[in-house]
Amino acid sequence: MATETKTIDAKNIFMKLRNIFTLLLFLPVVSALAQTSYFFPKAASFDASIPSPGKFLGYAIGTHYTRHEQIVAYFRELARVSNRIHVQTIGKTYEEREQIIATITAPANYNRLEEIRQEHLTLVDPSKPIIDNKAPVIIHLGYNVHGNESSSAEVSMLTAWYLAANNDPETQQWLKEAVIFIDPSLNPDGRDRAANWYNSYSSFPPIADPLDKEHQEQWPGGRTNHYFADLNRDWLNLVHIESRNRVQFFHQWYPNVQIDFHEQGSNATYYFEPTPKRHESPIVPQFLYDENAVLATYHAKALDEIGSLYFTKENYDNLSPIYGSTYPKFYGSVAATFEEASSRGLVTESTNGLLTFAFSIRNHVTTSLSTIRGSVAEKANLFKVQKNLFKQALEQARASKTKAYVFGDSRDENLTLTFLNLLLQHHIQVYELEGNTTQEDKKFEKGKSYIVPAEQPNYLIVHSLFEENILKDSIYYDNTGWSVIHAYGLQYAAINTPTFAKGKQVTSLPSINGDVLGGQSSLAYITAYTDFNATKALYALLQKGILVKTAFRPFTINHNNSKKTFGNGSLIIPVAGQPIAADSLYRLVKAIAANANITFTAVSTGFSAEGIDLGSSNIKAIRKPEVALAFGQGVTSSEAGQIWFLLNQHLGLPVVKLDLQNFERASLKRYNTLILPGGNYSAWNKATVDKIKDWVAEGGVLITLQNASAWAIQNDLVKEKLLDDDKDKPEGKPAAPLTTATATDNRAGRPVQQTSFGQSATERPESEPVSKSRNSRLDYDAQQDVEGAKRINGAIFTADLDTTHPIAFGVTTRKLFINKNSNTFLQSSANKYATVALYDSKPFVNGYASKENIKKVSSSAAILLSNSGNGQVVLFADDPTYRSYWLGTTRLFLNSIFFANLVSGGRNFAGESEHE
Ligand SMILES: [Zn+2]
Repeated sequence: MATETKTIDAKNIFMKLRNIFTLLLFLPVVSALAQTSYFFPKAASFDASIPSPGKFLGYAIGTHYTRHEQIVAYFRELARVSNRIHVQTIGKTYEEREQIIATITAPANYNRLEEIRQEHLTLVDPSKPIIDNKAPVIIHLGYNVHGNESSSAEVSMLTAWYLAANNDPETQQWLKEAVIFIDPSLNPDGRDRAANWYNSYSSFPPIADPLDKEHQEQWPGGRTNHYFADLNRDWLNLVHIESRNRVQFFHQWYPNVQIDFHEQGSNATYYFEPTPKRHESPIVPQFLYDENAVLATYHAKALDEIGSLYFTKENYDNLSPIYGSTYPKFYGSVAATFEEASSRGLVTESTNGLLTFAFSIRNHVTTSLSTIRGSVAEKANLFKVQKNLFKQALEQARASKTKAYVFGDSRDENLTLTFLNLLLQHHIQVYELEGNTTQEDKKFEKGKSYIVPAEQPNYLIVHSLFEENILKDSIYYDNTGWSVIHAYGLQYAAINTPTFAKGKQVTSLPSINGDVLGGQSSLAYITAYTDFNATKALYALLQKGILVKTAFRPFTINHNNSKKTFGNGSLIIPVAGQPIAADSLYRLVKAIAANANITFTAVSTGFSAEGIDLGSSNIKAIRKPEVALAFGQGVTSSEAGQIWFLLNQHLGLPVVKLDLQNFERASLKRYNTLILPGGNYSAWNKATVDKIKDWVAEGGVLITLQNASAWAIQNDLVKEKLLDDDKDKPEGKPAAPLTTATATDNRAGRPVQQTSFGQSATERPESEPVSKSRNSRLDYDAQQDVEGAKRINGAIFTADLDTTHPIAFGVTTRKLFINKNSNTFLQSSANKYATVALYDSKPFVNGYASKENIKKVSSSAAILLSNSGNGQVVLFADDPTYRSYWLGTTRLFLNSIFFANLVSGGRNFAGESEHE
């Protein structure tokens, strides 16, 4: 390939090129020259020894979807032939795809990269002076977090090539004055799922009809990762491996600018920040958001030059650190989302004419370069902004009423460590306790609890993890309640006194050595069920065919001359009656204890010091769950993915993923537990519904979530009721007329909680009863606000949990924090013992929900367990495994798998002898 020097008047030929490119798509190979001119109209002198992506791949960018391993191979090739680029691996995905980061900078910078990093890190230390403007600006370009927003990973290759091969003075200056990191594909598994789809159905010539199969990606789509998780909602919770690897890299550098590249609907133009003021976080200083408006001028100019239209300030949340473009802002990075119209294939019809894949790529290439241009030009300001953010964060911390947070629960060490691990991954300063302490009547034990001072540079993320967020608006398209401590259901307290004792700083995660206390037993082994990982040990035992029992009443034993009390749900492994010999059992229990980090106690007598004895009928055998999960088109993929993830990664349970269409022919007898995530089950015929009904009646456990719970009620799978004003009718058929039960009658009229958040929300026009009368009329312009406010996109509510119920085994507090992101409202059960969790009369904690919705929540039940024949139906109004980090309710979901079949409905009440 010859060195190309080509300048083209982009404005004049832009439209022509767009059409030409559509034609070019028909050709097997597009000339390198055309490629260069199209993507880089102002292209200068490229080094011919550095292959373009097209040359390396053997096809023109924009004519094919490049698979992840080809992208990685191209970056490695660039690193091989150019001394401006280096590639490192930061980890691997669930499907064993490499996550790479390319470092692009002048060789002179790369040779002293660690020195540059150390100097740069002083920016996030408020006590250090500001760095010299000669220091390079740190830029991070992250592409393709949503796998089926595919243009941007192609962009990553073009951008890297431009930087590696272009010898013009501007590029030389950038390399000297910037260190640029490129993450070409933030979600490699999703990327390939989408790429394979688009490549599989691409036609020659390409079809622009949006209904062609190429443009109609099927369930679950490539947006998400292997477990159908949205990685652009995982930056704060760090559930998934891709996020953990990425955040670890982020904390090595704290880039000054970080861009997250996306795609939006095909009829849109191009979007970049600033976002609407009302969608910005009130705890992030305004000057940081303002800097985005400065960088926006560079993007606007660059897009103007190629004749691309765009919009700003109208859309997109910028509030929560769960997002890739918001999390870095909490660290002083001027981060932004860029959204390109999606071609969803090679070319599609749109209201702006034919939209080609190449055109989408071109816009993102343009703003990738304008980001670098703007960042280098505004370097001094970017340094100042980052420094000032950390200074201001310290001031905010000093002004805060809460001076420190203490958390931890000696009854649940694994949950405590999981939360501690999250804090450490966010580089939050955490300390040991100096001694045991009691705060807000909660006991915190030294060695098993930790303290987090508010006054630390990382205060904004501390606030996001412990505090309830403040909202400026009611219209968000995603969750608005994310206090992570509530999600974990972990014991914590705020310390408001200016001085507090703290021990040593925790710099690495302590380990727990699970074991069997007291050595081999000839009678039984016992463990409390309060630790989150007891569930893990339980399944490991059942999976090996071991008889495990659970206690429906507490009991106390003498062990080593001291008394030890075991609460409801404690697990008992008798030595007799097992399929393996006593010494093998001991070795197995020991290995499982070590693996799950929990402690079993060997006992030598079945006679308890207090409470029930070990031979009591209140200690019941647990059956091994054989679980099928409704899957495929119609099912809410995120919920199905969360359950799949939980059962695989936490329990090691091989859940069978059963497509809805296969239920009719499946033998359900193979399973004793069936899970229906939220979704649309209307495609099932009566025979299938009857088949599930019969299966429950014969002893199956059916677990339903969100509107699947509504479906189960509407189809008479269970004798429970929805609130009569339930608007959530997923099947589009009217629910049977419902009456409000007495239990909810006297709750409905109670006043709704009036917090500052709730008030600000209810001041908005959605509190108006819309169209109750002919004269009820609102301006057209109010539509988005009013209709948007009716949804519950995710807000935190509290419920009262019956901690004696088997579904709540192991939970020690009745106050349950629930994330509600559905409009399914259950009535309390007519059976007095069947309402496992009932929303509080003043349930609203955090996030956005309208006054009307808060009232409905306060009148409804969160979890019901209803007997049906010999089986049970567990109804969750919400999504208990929400985004895989809502561990407080996840535990109840796990219990429903293990214990629901042990729940009797009064007929054969626990404690009575069993006659059947
Ligand atoms: Zn996206």
